[in-house]
Amino acid sequence: MLLIAYLDKKKNKREERIDMRSRTEQLFIIFFIPCVIGFYLIYKYPQWFVSEDSITDVFYFLGKSTSFWYASLYTSIVCGLAGWVVWQGKTPYGKDPSKPLSRYQKHKFISIFFAQLIFFYLIPFIVPDLLDDKPFFADEYSPLNKDAYVYVYNGFTSLGGFFYVFLLVPLSVWFFGKRYCSWFCACGNLAEVIGVTKWGNRWVQEKTPRSNFSKKAEWLQYGFLVFAILFGLVLFFHAWHIIIAPSWLESMREIQDLAVDLAFGALIGIGAYPFLGTRIWCRYGCPLAGLMRLFGKFSRSKFAVVASPSCKGLNLCSTQCPMGIDVASYAHKDGHPIEGQFGLNDSPCIGCGGCVDICPVKALSFQKILNPQNTS
Ligand code: SF4
Ligand code: SF4
Ligand code: SF4
Repeated sequence: MLLIAYLDKKKNKREERIDMRSRTEQLFIIFFIPCVIGFYLIYKYPQWFVSEDSITDVFYFLGKSTSFWYASLYTSIVCGLAGWVVWQGKTPYGKDPSKPLSRYQKHKFISIFFAQLIFFYLIPFIVPDLLDDKPFFADEYSPLNKDAYVYVYNGFTSLGGFFYVFLLVPLSVWFFGKRYCSWFCACGNLAEVIGVTKWGNRWVQEKTPRSNFSKKAEWLQYGFLVFAILFGLVLFFHAWHIIIAPSWLESMREIQDLAVDLAFGALIGIGAYPFLGTRIWCRYGCPLAGLMRLFGKFSRSKFAVVASPSCKGLNLCSTQCPMGIDVASYAHKDGHPIEGQFGLNDSPCIGCGGCVDICPVKALSFQKILNPQNTS
């Protein structure tokens, strides 16, 4: 990550991009980094700070667990910002404050709002406690289920997980591309809403790695996918008592837990928003995204972003892409429109629509899946 950041900084300097942070933004970052680190350490490893017996006394607030408060804060930020975008009714991309929110973006932010609220908050954190006989404000300590984190394992540990990872997600990729990442996933939800705030949008535009090396480094993600599948297989065999290898399992669990989930997924994935944009984990780490990309390639999904002859070569689309895709290179060459297109075969596009929305001459659109001649 450091190498990617360094090479990109050099490239940005060459291109003389403006890279000035206001004093308030600098103060925010000084406050933000320790908060992210402290918050995640207490949330995931409270036993590092106090004995297990005293975790509820020290870290639980109003009788509710750190997980509950973490989810409450996360959901408030996501739903608050998504609701704000829809309520404002103005496009969050580009510099024209009078441009209305497109239908696509409206549906995307409504989807983010309800996905976060229902699937990542009410169902896991509120409904079970309401149905339980015990009082709502009296959580007992239970260690987090860390095997559930990096989604691909779930496909090996339960029938529901298998159905989700290996049937539902591929089907959604065929129909919608990787829109799962910009319309539904909890991690993606935060990235999307932060990416449309004033500072967040600047971080996306100015900090997202865009050098050739940063594109080549996307292969890292397949490494995480291989690791996730291996771990899933170990869990699977362990669960069925065919091969029991506790020492392997524990080492893999520790690597995944500390290096992948804590260091990369949480601390770098979120803590590095101001330095590397909002999609570092999604672009280089997340195994599920790697799997989706493979599904996209091999299923020949018709998902594509299509450029029209009206392109004026302004390059705003490339600047807006949180996944570092050089969108403009498919739209024009030397200022002349080339009517190109790209899909999951040649890009990690998540269908966020930022490039489509920011283009002032409406030169970009999504290809319709069931009728590939049409665009929307
Ligand atoms: S890449 Fe992974 S973490 Fe990011 S939005 Fe997609 S599924 Fe979620
Ligand atoms: S597609 Fe639009 S934003 Fe992108 S280069 Fe062409 S005119 Fe500019
Ligand atoms: S290419 Fe466009 S739709 Fe795809 S991720 Fe980049 S900005 Fe979003």
